[in-house]
Amino acid sequence: MARLCFDYGHGGRDPGAVYKGRREKDDNLALGKAVTAELRRHGVIVDETRTGDTTIGLRERSNFENRKKYDYIISFHRNAFKPEAARGAETYTYLNAYSGTTALAQKIQDALVAVGFANRKVKQADFHMLRETKAPAILIEVGFIDNTADNRIFDSKKDAIIIGIAKAILSQLGISYKDAPKPIPTPKGQLPRVAKQIAVRVNGKPVSAKGYLINNTTYLQGLFVAGLFGGSVTGHGSYIDIKVKT
Ligand SMILES: [Zn+2]
Repeated sequence: MARLCFDYGHGGRDPGAVYKGRREKDDNLALGKAVTAELRRHGVIVDETRTGDTTIGLRERSNFENRKKYDYIISFHRNAFKPEAARGAETYTYLNAYSGTTALAQKIQDALVAVGFANRKVKQADFHMLRETKAPAILIEVGFIDNTADNRIFDSKKDAIIIGIAKAILSQLGISYKDAPKPIPTPKGQLPRVAKQIAVRVNGKPVSAKGYLINNTTYLQGLFVAGLFGGSVTGHGSYIDIKVKT
């Protein structure tokens, strides 16, 4: 089974690049976790160096990644230069990377260019996260956080970016992409008899996902469903609670 390690750059006390209140650490985490959910939906094992807004040093990250064997390690970042002066996506491998690593980097780079980022190409660099990791590692810079046009692509093409990166990785692993199951099935020619919106909680905490009660069955809307494997759903009348294994 394919096993990957994802590293979401910065976090906690280290915001990464910041522009007009937007923090790189948040973008890295949100994008990376969404790609993780897509890959797990395809049976890929993904370990993560962080799953929340926590401070982790580079040495701690590479030590984490060297504890187990991984097919690939991918670090998620966003670039910065001078306000509005640079734009585009670039993908890094370590110096003289294996051809498989370069191929994966190229697939991810192509996916980022396909959604509209300028092509800054696949490059090689002597970064800590590429050098100090045993498994083949890639670092992606998903546009410049200090460029308004790049942020517009990042936000408006969010789903396409998530699916594009997931497809690139799956293709490299030899797994074919399957569309997410439709969250709300509507029988042809007729609308559901009862469709009442219902609040959703995860481990007791309210979240923004929406649920629907249709013919006494609860359906959840959105990508959120992808993260539910291994959890359980309990109805509570006015809301449903999803227990997620942590
Ligand atoms: Zn960064």
